[in-house]
Amino acid sequence: MNTKKEYDAVIIGSGFAGIGMAIQLKQEGIENFIIIERANEIGGTWRDNRYPGSACDIPSHLYSLSFAPNPRWSNMFAPAAEIHEYMKDCVSKYKLEEKIVFNTEIVGAEFNEQQGIWSLHTSGGTELRCRVVASGVGGLVNPKYPNIPGMDRFKGKAFHSARWDHDTNLAGKRVAIIGTGASSIQIAPEVAKVAEHLTVFQRSPCWILPKMDMPISQKQQNVLERFPVLQRIFRAGLYSFFEMLAPMLIFDSPLTKIVQAQAQRHLNQAVTCPELHAKLQPDFTMGCKRNLVSSEFYPTLQRDNVSLEADNIAEVLENGIRLKTGEIVELDIIVYATGFHTEISKALFPVKGLGGRDLTEIWEGGGMAYRGVAVSGLPNWFIMMGPNTGPGHTSVLVYTEAQMKYIRQATRYILDHNIKSISIKRRLLIKYNEKLQRRMQKTVWTSGCNSWFLDASGRNLVLYPGLATEYAMGLRKFKIDEYDCA
Ligand code: NAP
Repeated sequence: MNTKKEYDAVIIGSGFAGIGMAIQLKQEGIENFIIIERANEIGGTWRDNRYPGSACDIPSHLYSLSFAPNPRWSNMFAPAAEIHEYMKDCVSKYKLEEKIVFNTEIVGAEFNEQQGIWSLHTSGGTELRCRVVASGVGGLVNPKYPNIPGMDRFKGKAFHSARWDHDTNLAGKRVAIIGTGASSIQIAPEVAKVAEHLTVFQRSPCWILPKMDMPISQKQQNVLERFPVLQRIFRAGLYSFFEMLAPMLIFDSPLTKIVQAQAQRHLNQAVTCPELHAKLQPDFTMGCKRNLVSSEFYPTLQRDNVSLEADNIAEVLENGIRLKTGEIVELDIIVYATGFHTEISKALFPVKGLGGRDLTEIWEGGGMAYRGVAVSGLPNWFIMMGPNTGPGHTSVLVYTEAQMKYIRQATRYILDHNIKSISIKRRLLIKYNEKLQRRMQKTVWTSGCNSWFLDASGRNLVLYPGLATEYAMGLRKFKIDEYDCA
């Protein structure tokens, strides 16, 4: 890495956001940039979440970059390894290898107002200087472990779903999975196939829709490759389908009950044992917590070698878990599928913008950005997958693409006009977020349940309360008059 050099842009993170952003900059003819990655490989969430059964729960033809189409998805919902391969293919197809600096973490940043330059400090002690920063660090990165008494005295193997220990052989072992979220319901069916016994520890049951997965045959893949227009039509069809579902999945309305009835039917048909059914019956409006998709989870729970413990953990022992009933479940392995620290609206490291003001201070009352991308007082700094940009009904990459294309325009503008700094007008940011939070009150996410979408004060700073189309339209054109310039 040439630390003396001044880059036009630095991209932080080489997950989908970082890779896509790099492709966009290249397509704009901007070559003077680098990508900083703290791990030794690209891939973000698809590098880290490699537990057995890890796969996408949005169809891959929509959960991929529209400007880097892949006709070769093997299934409607591709497994993690295939998604990771796709990302690596993007890196090689767009010649990004030389742009990525691995094993380097940004630990601090400050803006020099006189020069219009960001200085980024790395874990290795070097300083990187650039005009524009595009941050694609992701919001669900750092594993969250539960706070169960005795966790550190367990003598068997214990690891988080996002830090899977691939050296641990599950065959013939007594395994526990703690949590029943999006990761757990993918892991459990695979573990149950090999473990002697699997105990799933559930705190609260979630609504689960069946997964309409199917292989995409070689012949179908060939057709999509030969006629790219068909792939575009297929993607547009998927996009429209999910957009049509938005009013049902986002807003707390009578329509929500239609989808909930589907999930209820799924539960009723899949689980006939009254005792198990009662344990799995959610007690909140569907969508309030993240909707789950699996056709395998309910059948898995009914295997002879699987049991479900509902809200029944007292403590972890050296050799297992003691239940609140006093019974001991002896275990060899504990998997914590307990989610992530939500860092979407938090500063991951000190970032000092105009007047040396730190992002943590700017975001003291909660992380807010204009359209999720720009923060007043942080000039030339753009966020991907930022505050209130998560979807409740479709592919997150639709939102991320809109952000990448917007940042591409902003970068071009800054470079072409030799502008030192652009900072989003504060009144616009406030107005945008007030409107967004007013609308949030009508969503199913605030209908009364505990979820990682909500912060300590009950505010949702994670999801976008509207259609993807509306979000993307808002970012379609970069408008300089929305910024204070210097
Ligand atoms: P999660 O959805 O946050 O689920 C965590 C689970 O752990 C919940 O069931 C939670 O119960 C439980 N839990 C937490 N603390 C516990 C405790 N002390 N005792 C017992 N149970 C406890 O985490 P995740 O499943 O890893 O998913 C996180 C996010 O990653 C998802 O929402 C999604 O955005 C993403 N993801 C996506 C995919 C995909 O296919 N696209 C796959 C996996 C993950 P409560 O419900 O009671 O809190």
